[in-house]
Parts: sequence; C-alpha cells; structure tokens
Amino acid sequence: MKVEEAAFCSDSSIATGWIDVDRIRQDFPALSQKVHGHPLIYLDNAASSQKPECVIEAVSAYYRADNANVHRGVHELSQRATASYEGARDKIRRFVGAAECAEIILTKGTTEAINLVASTFGQRIQAGDRILITEMEHHSNIVPWQILCQMRSAHLDVIPIDDRGDLILEEADRLLGLGPKLLSISHISNALGTINPVADLIEKAHQVGALVLVDGAQAVPHSKVDVQALDCDFYSFSSHKMFGPTGVGVLYGKREVLEGLPPYQGGGDMILSVSFEGTTYNTLPHRLEAGTPNMAGVIGLGAAVDYLEEVGLEKINHYETDLLAYATEKLTCVPGVRLVGGEARKRAAVLSLVMDGVHPHDIGTILDRKGIAVRTGHHCAQPVMTHFGIPATARASLALYNTRAEIDRLVEELAEIRRVFGA
Ligand code: PMP
Repeated sequence: MKVEEAAFCSDSSIATGWIDVDRIRQDFPALSQKVHGHPLIYLDNAASSQKPECVIEAVSAYYRADNANVHRGVHELSQRATASYEGARDKIRRFVGAAECAEIILTKGTTEAINLVASTFGQRIQAGDRILITEMEHHSNIVPWQILCQMRSAHLDVIPIDDRGDLILEEADRLLGLGPKLLSISHISNALGTINPVADLIEKAHQVGALVLVDGAQAVPHSKVDVQALDCDFYSFSSHKMFGPTGVGVLYGKREVLEGLPPYQGGGDMILSVSFEGTTYNTLPHRLEAGTPNMAGVIGLGAAVDYLEEVGLEKINHYETDLLAYATEKLTCVPGVRLVGGEARKRAAVLSLVMDGVHPHDIGTILDRKGIAVRTGHHCAQPVMTHFGIPATARASLALYNTRAEIDRLVEELAEIRRVFGA
C-alpha cells in the first residue's frame, strides 16, 4: 500500500493484511491490561519491547527444570542448560546470518557490546588515530569512543546530520578520507528513526582501511539483518528491544577480527588453563565472555528469535512500514505538532514529536493518564536534541503489535492536549 493510500485508510483490518495483529497481540500478556482505567497503548518499543508468552515461558521453564551453570558440569542439568544456551547462540547466529557461532559474543546488551570493542580493539588505537561516529548516535555509541580517544590522544570525528534527520553524505566521504581506524554507526537512529545507508558506508569505510561497527539495537526487531551481506566487522544489538529478556545482548564480529582482539574481561570460562606463570585463553566465542553468563536471558532471547522468525521479518517490516506511513500522515495533521526527523529519506518505527507551547514531558505525562505509553526526553541522544535546538521530544515507537486504532487514539489525545493548552 502506498503512503497516500495508507494515510486515508482508518480501517485497521486493511493494515492487518500482512500479519494477523489481533492474534499477535494475544501472544503478549502485558498488552491486555488497563493503565489508569484505559486499555494500555504501548508505544515505547524503542526503549524496551513487551515479551511474548513463549519468551516468558522459556525463561520460566529454564528456572523450573534446567537451572545449572553452563559449560562446567558433567551432570544432567548442567548439560541441559549448556545445550539450551549454546542452542540459543546458534539461533542468534542464523538470525543475523553469521557464518559460525564463534562469531556471536553474548553480552549484557548493546552498550556492553560497544564497550567491549572500545576496550579491546581500542588497544590498537594510537595517538593521532581517528575514530568516526555520527551526530545521531545513542550515547552508548559516543561515550566509549570519547573515553578511548581521550585515553589515547586520538581524534573523534562526527558525521553531521541535516535538518531532515539524514546524514550529510558528502561529509561522511570527507571524514572517511581522513583515514579513520573505525567507523561506528547506528543502523537505525533511536531518536529520529532514520535508516542509515550502512551498506554503502561500510563499503566506503573498507576502501580506506577502516573497520565498521554497526549499532543495530533499533534494526533487528524491524527488518531482516544479514551481517555477511552487509560485510560489517561488528554488529551489536539488545535482546530486550526485540521481545527478549533484559540483560542480554549480542556482539557479532567477523572471526578474523575477533581473533585479533585481546581478552575483554578475565575470569572463568574465558581460559583453558591458569597458573601463576601464565594463562592460556579459551577459543572464541568463550575467550571474550568471562564469568557465568545470563543463561536464562540468552535462552529467552533464543525464544524471541524463534518468535520473530515464525511471524516473519519481511511481514513485520511490511506491516510496520505501512503503520509508520499512516502514523506520520495522521500526526502531521495535528495542529502544532512537528515530527523531528520526519522528513528523512528512509525511516523506521520511530515518531519523535514536539508540539508548539507544550513541553514533551507534559505530553508524556498526560498521555500516560490515558493509558498511552510514550517516551519523553533526549532518548540518550543529546547531540540530536542540540542539533534541532530542542531539549527533548515525545517519542512514539512502534512494534509489530501496534495498530492503526492505537495511532488514532494517540492522535486524538494529542489534539486534545493541544486544545487544552490553548496553544
Ligand atoms: N543504541 C541504540 C540505537 C539504542 O536505541 C540503545 C537503547 N536505547 C542502545 C544503543 C543501548 O542499548 P542498551 O541500553 O540495551 O545497551
């Protein structure tokens, strides 16, 4: 369906042609509750998504029956736990198209995945070297590089954005021409929803000898990612944004790149033998995963991957693209509302809005009283707010279980806020 058609179509059944959204909603127990006496409309998926029953059940079943430490026991429970844990790693590998499980490092989240690269790959960085990021990064893809550059007297360069919310690609070319050691870039911006042309940038970065880390935290729940097709060196994401449990994330790395990294943290599981004379390290992926991992969380993430694959990422993407077009059109019709980054060339799942005369925090608080959950603030992307000269936005972010009827309710309430504030 074209954007224009979608805009004038308020019948939610038309939007459900690709996925059975009513059935999907039944998979998520949290969605059927009321908040402040109103049916919950959950539009804070970029911060953290709700969990389907199968994920909750996988975590619960693990604790009920299989709970034991992984990799270490000869006993039955430990073997079962290890099989489920490593089975989940293999599902994640397949999900992002990695060649082998050695390339899937399990972390606490995107933040830890990026910090892992900053503190291991970062040891190669020397005075005068350059790291390249963009103006639209989440703080977790800014601060680790700032710390590294300060420690190593290296330069941190930033690809600027324009007022539509797109990267200025001529500037990307110019800054790549300065020969950075690494380009670290979000696939999709959590503050604007901009989909970045990462495949092109990866190719260009490789031409100047830079490695590339893609922050995929906002991409994996919405579209099929294939790390080999992208040819990125690292790809990071968080379980809790893709219907999995919190406290788990993934760092994909090409084997040859990971092999060249020093250990990240020292401890159990990352070693083959330890003596006071010296330690020999384990093979990948374990060499970069010290200590007892979040076993239940990883198994839950495996269930989330199964769920996403069962629904089908292509269908999800199709459905959400339509919903985003519908929401964009409707929201821009509310007097006084402006979508920040709403004109970017390619966007996904995020509607970051400001309203004349009303602070985003007030919008968020009033919407909450109506059962509508949105996020207000700088979304851990303060440089984006600075660029647009605003302190914050109210952000509605979509997932596969959101509907046109929910967007209509959001639009209604925003129009009411505008009326009440007399703006
Ligand atoms: N990058 C992006 C684009 C994000 O949206 C987020 C979470 N908001 C992060 C990184 C950090 O993820 P986490 O807090 O799960 O580590």
